[in-house]
Amino acid sequence: MAIERVGIVGFGLMGGGIAQVCAVHGYDVAVIDVGDDRVQRGHDTIRARLERDVARGRMTADTCERALGRITGTTNYEDLSTCDLVIEAAVEDMAAKRAVFQRLGTVTKPEAILASNTSSLPLSDMAAASGRPAQVIGLHFFNPPYALRLVEVVIPESTNQDTIDAAMVFCDTLDRVTVRVKDTPGFIVNRLLVPFIFDAIHLVESGTASAQDVDQACRIGLNHAMGPLGTADLIGLDTLLYISESMFEEYGEPRFKAPTSLRRMVALGHLGRKTGRGFFTYE
Ligand code: NAD
Repeated sequence: MAIERVGIVGFGLMGGGIAQVCAVHGYDVAVIDVGDDRVQRGHDTIRARLERDVARGRMTADTCERALGRITGTTNYEDLSTCDLVIEAAVEDMAAKRAVFQRLGTVTKPEAILASNTSSLPLSDMAAASGRPAQVIGLHFFNPPYALRLVEVVIPESTNQDTIDAAMVFCDTLDRVTVRVKDTPGFIVNRLLVPFIFDAIHLVESGTASAQDVDQACRIGLNHAMGPLGTADLIGLDTLLYISESMFEEYGEPRFKAPTSLRRMVALGHLGRKTGRGFFTYE
């Protein structure tokens, strides 16, 4: 099936970024969130990013306006009824995702593909909730989606070949690089990344080294573009906590258990870049 119109559920960090990538590559995009304020904020964020690209000479003003014109924000699920593909990028919580997939299974056209950008939760559960398990697939974009080109294509047992093929072609049209992975918690990248970040947090918790020095060591010594704690702040500490909880629940391995200080920071609302404070502070 040809994908022309894309729906996105959640106008947050990831949903907004994916919407931007889709619109810049010529897709009509409908983005749904739970309140008008969130929809407006999502829109404003994309506009600011694209206008910055124009100011830096990376994009023409015309391309920017055309991309913005392709994005419609909404709070009404019925507006997703004409989408060929819907990508869910709401909160990393299974009950919430199950409810979204149940809803999508009723409001979207029968042939529509339903995808999730989940970082760690089982696609198979979402597939079951949707009532159309053969057309459900994981499309795990990375943060920020407009800068990082990787998409992990997560394939539950129930997904049919047409859906896989259509999803791969869609990612190609977005100029993404894909890797395929079975429906397992954390897929490839988070399964490796989360224990790495947690070890970095343990170094700080135990007073072994400061957050600045842990990140500096990884940037300079390992030639990483970002240190693990800066990466945690970028992901969002709440999202990181949710990801690790689902991996710990499934694997039962201590390396996936969230450090105490991470839980405390989330409880206090210090969620990283999005709130201006995490392991580091942001303007
Ligand atoms: P976020 O908190 O920035 O955004 C989530 C948005 O979803 C919010 O605006 C919220 O209002 C909205 N939302 C919640 N329930 C909804 C519903 N029922 N219907 C419509 N909108 C709803 O979170 P995020 O960082 O964008 O993460 C979204 C998803 O992407 C999660 O599953 C997360 O694991 C995954 N993900 C996150 C990252 C990352 O680095 N943050 C990377 C890859 C994947």
